[in-house]
Amino acid sequence: RPTTEEGLLAGLNGPQREAVLHAGSPVLVVAGAGSGKTRVLTRRIAHLVQLRGVHPGSILAITFTNKAAAEMRARVVELVGNRARPMWVSTFHSAAVRMLRSDIDRLGMSRNFSIYDDTDAKRLITLVTRDASLDPKKFQPRAIMNWISNQKNDLIDPPAAKDAATSGNDRTYAELYDEYQRRLRAANALDFDDLIMSVVTLLRTCPDLREQYRRRFRHVLVDEYQDTNAAQYEFIRALCGREPVPPGDPEEEAAVRVDPPELMVVGDSDQSIYAFRGATIRNILSFESDFPGATTILLEQNYRSTQTILTAANSLIKANPDRPAKNLWTDAGDGERIVGYVADTEHDEAAWVARRIDSLVDAGSTSYGDVAVFYRTNAQSRPFEDVFIRTGLPYRVVGGVRFYERREVRDAVAYLRAIANPADDVSVRRILNVPKRGIGARAEASLEVFATARRIPFSQAVDRVGEIGAMATRSVNQIRSFGELMARHRAMVDAGARADEILDSILKDSGYIAELENSKDPQDETRLENLVELVSVAQEFVARAHTIDLAGGEDTEAEDVAADDSALEGDDSLPAFLEQIALVADSDSIPEEGEGVVTLMTLHTAKGLEFDTVFVTGFEDGVFPHARSLGDSKELAEERRLAYVGLTRARKRLLISRAVVRTMWGTPQYNPPSRFIEEIPARLIDWERLAEASPGWDWQSQDRSSSARESLDRDGASFSQAGSGRAFGSGKGPRHAPKSPVLSLTPGDKVLHSTFGLGTVLATRGSGANTNVDVDFGSVGTKRLALKFAPLEKL
Ligand code: ATP
Ligand code: MG
Repeated sequence: RPTTEEGLLAGLNGPQREAVLHAGSPVLVVAGAGSGKTRVLTRRIAHLVQLRGVHPGSILAITFTNKAAAEMRARVVELVGNRARPMWVSTFHSAAVRMLRSDIDRLGMSRNFSIYDDTDAKRLITLVTRDASLDPKKFQPRAIMNWISNQKNDLIDPPAAKDAATSGNDRTYAELYDEYQRRLRAANALDFDDLIMSVVTLLRTCPDLREQYRRRFRHVLVDEYQDTNAAQYEFIRALCGREPVPPGDPEEEAAVRVDPPELMVVGDSDQSIYAFRGATIRNILSFESDFPGATTILLEQNYRSTQTILTAANSLIKANPDRPAKNLWTDAGDGERIVGYVADTEHDEAAWVARRIDSLVDAGSTSYGDVAVFYRTNAQSRPFEDVFIRTGLPYRVVGGVRFYERREVRDAVAYLRAIANPADDVSVRRILNVPKRGIGARAEASLEVFATARRIPFSQAVDRVGEIGAMATRSVNQIRSFGELMARHRAMVDAGARADEILDSILKDSGYIAELENSKDPQDETRLENLVELVSVAQEFVARAHTIDLAGGEDTEAEDVAADDSALEGDDSLPAFLEQIALVADSDSIPEEGEGVVTLMTLHTAKGLEFDTVFVTGFEDGVFPHARSLGDSKELAEERRLAYVGLTRARKRLLISRAVVRTMWGTPQYNPPSRFIEEIPARLIDWERLAEASPGWDWQSQDRSSSARESLDRDGASFSQAGSGRAFGSGKGPRHAPKSPVLSLTPGDKVLHSTFGLGTVLATRGSGANTNVDVDFGSVGTKRLALKFAPLEKL
């Protein structure tokens, strides 16, 4: 573990070192892909802690995904040890949730708020639109949602949206926004965009909180700064901006008198690919004026890719107008040429990819885990999956089939939310009659009328069902017992029960499991498996809350050991679990390296990652670039940045392909080759196969109805930064459940952990159910585990 300046700066070039060492003013690191921006950020944190004596608790680092946060945290712990634990490394959304959990009551909401994901939000919008008697064809929930999301990303609240509305359409949208917001609040719920907007409101309106956080976070670091939107920018500014001192208000003055923390942001305007979510490179371009005194550092050496890959990417991105010229180079040498393939159909394309992967692996050039296949939209994964399954090629789809979007999983989560937050009407109503317990639509409507008239949450109407006249006795009894079911489980939460216990109990007690078990529908078998999987997710969550990383076991300092033991009593409560699953991004389920499976994902999900071998597929005009962008130079520029992101993920080997005919929306389409192919110098590409005969492009037949276009719209990027979703690990056996009789272990024993693998017990502390055990898992490192939760087997 490096303790000297030289040690911490090892493996960094001049400008990278400068960025790590820079002190005293805001720093912007701008540089192309693979130039070490993320590495610089990580090293800077290590340097702050190790050599500048900065307390890790005063560091806030923001990454784009939870997965990236976990990696960064692990890297820093590797460099400085467990002392780094108190630092905050998280996405904007997770940081916002943490802040809101402690202070949202100041905005008049309660701390046990629910977080609505896209599907919940859409459901609520649909209700709002229906109740406003609007034509759902003209006012589509998806369009309204996007509109509202844009408002929130620009920090425009409903009154301001109404003021700004100029067209009749906007006025209607603004009304819907207002009502949607009112209902969210009544349900004590926030959607994803609200998380950021609310925390900004909180910091803006409470100078004492702003002061508190400004005193706490003395160092703020942001990765992927090019993809921050206006709301996220305001969040950073509230924490780090130098504000003029307002005369008169002593509290305001105190807040701004705290010197702003040191801010480092890193980014690449050529990789800005989230404009549709309000991201704006304005934030990069005006960093120096936003944060006066700022220093900009440029990095020019790329350490990821071969010269061939880099030249291809550089030439492509040059076609974008209005961008500062960059001079990215590498000394890795030319490497292999790019391989191209023109397939007859999308199935032929998929078969070629599979053949290529197999021959590369057979030749020992790469392993499955080092290969990624990218495409523009999620729907394109299907042909690859078909071929990979048929040929037995191990793979994983990131962001494809979303575990948390399966019906039974959503039901279970709705139960948990309804337990944790009784005001959450959407969740309570979802499970009122699931499994069927004879509470019909009429009874539900009576409950709704009762609740609306008294302005109380739906669940209170359930509790007061006795006061509702004119309801069948049978219904009253059923509703009562539903109310009692919920009350029993809310009492478990109050008594401090663990998330997995509550989940297990509600699934059984509600009759959900029994209904599936007794069903003859084969699909219900799968549903049961998914619920078993969800219980395992909860058990893993609990086990993780009681595990800490000893990072090689070198930490003997008293301070560290003390911190470790308190960490073993991590938060294993239901609210903490709900928070975690609400915030899992699709990209979080990317398999660990060496797991040995090919990764399939959209280009949007690939940001920040790297693979030895990369296939970028579907290079056709109308697919990539996307049909929607063809007539719009701004959109086209964004598609080109997406292509740049895709090409620059490759370390050693890049392969590109297109299909002459692709079935889209049920009809075969002849798409011309992507214009992006022409923007790559021809000498760099070896075409393994070119089109046999070129079919005449008949643009008349390119009939893309606007609704079809809409359905593809945003598809490729439909995962959200902190969106719910988790690719369902197929083919995995049931996961290891925590053992109930606690193992008795002594140093030297060999154990098997369901995640960390084989290990050797180094030491045990405590006794019986309260035993903690330190286990050396070899290359995975040394972990301290709470024995009662750890998924361990003695060998
Ligand atoms: P992106 O723009 O794609 O996010 P980045 O600028 O964040 O890329 P990193 O991911 O930090 O780049 O680095 C790319 C690769 O180069 C990583 O494998 C990293 O470990 C390696 N790397 C970075 N700097 C150096 C260096 N000075 N010497 C050797 N390898 C380096
Ligand atoms: Mg990076």
